[in-house]
Amino acid sequence: MHKEDFADNHFIRTIIEEDLKANKYQQIITRFPPEPNGYLHVGHAKSICLNFGMAFVYDGICHLRFDDTNPEKESEEYVHSIQEDIHWLGFQWDGKPRYASNYFEKLYEYAETLINKNLAYVDDLSIDEIRDYRGTLKDPGRESPYRSRSVEENLDLFRRMRAGEFEDGSKTLRLKIDMSSSNINMRDPIIYRIRRVKHHRTGDKWYIYPMYDYTHCLSDGIEKITHSLCTLEFEDHRPLYDWILEKLEIEPRPHQYEFSRLELLYTITSKRKLNRLVTEQYVSNWDDPRMPTIAGMRRRGYTAPGIRLFCKRIGISKSENIVDLSVLEGAIRDDLENSAPRMMTVLNPIKVDLINYDEILTKSRQAPYHPHVPEMGEREVKIGKTIYIEQDDFTLEPPPKWQRLTPGGEVRLRYSYVIKCEEVIQDDLGNIIELKCSIDHDTLGKKPEGRKVKGVIHWVSEEFSSPIEVRLYDRLFTVERPDMVKDDDGNEVDFCEFINPDSIKIIQARAEKVVNELPKEARWQFERLGYFVTDRYDHTPEKPVFNRTVTLRDTWAQKNNK
Ligand code: ATP
Ligand code: MG
Repeated sequence: MHKEDFADNHFIRTIIEEDLKANKYQQIITRFPPEPNGYLHVGHAKSICLNFGMAFVYDGICHLRFDDTNPEKESEEYVHSIQEDIHWLGFQWDGKPRYASNYFEKLYEYAETLINKNLAYVDDLSIDEIRDYRGTLKDPGRESPYRSRSVEENLDLFRRMRAGEFEDGSKTLRLKIDMSSSNINMRDPIIYRIRRVKHHRTGDKWYIYPMYDYTHCLSDGIEKITHSLCTLEFEDHRPLYDWILEKLEIEPRPHQYEFSRLELLYTITSKRKLNRLVTEQYVSNWDDPRMPTIAGMRRRGYTAPGIRLFCKRIGISKSENIVDLSVLEGAIRDDLENSAPRMMTVLNPIKVDLINYDEILTKSRQAPYHPHVPEMGEREVKIGKTIYIEQDDFTLEPPPKWQRLTPGGEVRLRYSYVIKCEEVIQDDLGNIIELKCSIDHDTLGKKPEGRKVKGVIHWVSEEFSSPIEVRLYDRLFTVERPDMVKDDDGNEVDFCEFINPDSIKIIQARAEKVVNELPKEARWQFERLGYFVTDRYDHTPEKPVFNRTVTLRDTWAQKNNK
């Protein structure tokens, strides 16, 4: 990884550079704060590249902190997957992973401090009543009748909340700020609620749990975070972030900066919605190759440098960041172009009998695994009497400018001879069963005499190829913004209605024998077809299984623009 690998000049870099120049900090400390309630997705990759990237570029450090304040939805499975995904993306956090739950005792003490300063009170209103009292953007809120409790009474009640004396939801602890503030977040926000839920780390220890806004700023303070980078929806929470840190006199004071979240077309980036795809079995799991999760992209064959390149390309700003899937696919192709070796594979074979094949006369050529990267080695591309070519490379009635095979026409077999189609064998229904072709033995490694043969097609020989299973993946959704579609009455339509029925197709194909030597997660280009990866779980050298990562060109755009 190089310092240039991260998004160029953006406003957060400017802020960090100025802070360092002014000697405000010796070293910057950022954090990536996922909630362990699902697998990380491509949106998180943007945040990871920013937080870890800034620490890397400016010789600082980045913490991994699990924001685990919602015990019902969180689990250790997610804690593990998140760590694995960050490592796989190429980043390492400073020290051990941190957990907001490790700070519960400290957060509790801070809450007592706020009560003692008469800046927090125990409220007996129900959650619904609190919502009702909160007012709207137009109307100011109303003060709770419990707002004027004495410090002593509040302390006593809060301690008894902790001790488990009260029912779930019967009391909350709220900050005493301003019920008429134009910022609704400042209208006495709740900072603790009672919940008798087992927490995946603290077990049954706590009956009360702190709220996100309260936990986040104080966790930043405890960890001495210098630049707390988050997405724009938290902009209106910043006054609360600052208020809490100021009232508790936390020094050094962390600062929050907001950037726009990534919205990727043809996908969804919300853990809650992705969770539905998994639980309702639209996909096989969180790491299904069609999922926009980091684990799914990995299984699909996307590379970590390719995903980082994508994050660099989309940049960091405060303006809308709606990006077409083709930008992500383009970055993956660009990364694979020179890192993936190439072989020939026929996905939809037609059998070809080479009628003048001769064991002595017919030779094979050596060919490199990559035309520009000789270190990848080479192999002999062996021909035989029976070969297979792609159905798409033959037609009975060629359109104008057709350069592939047709009855009576010629084409070059890549790394081999020019062949001519002499006869087409069809069944009663007109299906093509086999082609009979002749080899021009004078064309191995040289141009044919007296004529031009423009087309070059890929092929495999029957004897020197192996069967493989190929899983052809396509976009999971058929519309750009599956979770934003409204019906005629303006109601939101369930995004599951827009699942692409052709998002997976499994076929049996044939490939060069090298497939029987490959480990799991080997990335290859199948010449003229696309990039493919051996499946992380199901592939074995004896029974190769490939996933299509991405086609060589943006076929989706072609299909949908015509
Ligand atoms: P989700 O809605 O998928 O659960 P989240 O924001 O609730 O997303 P967190 O686990 O709380 O998920 O997010 C961890 C960090 O990743 C946060 O700082 C958040 O701002 C950032 N993040 C999440 N989604 C995106 C996105 N689409 N683009 C950029 N950053 C994101
Ligand atoms: Mg969240």
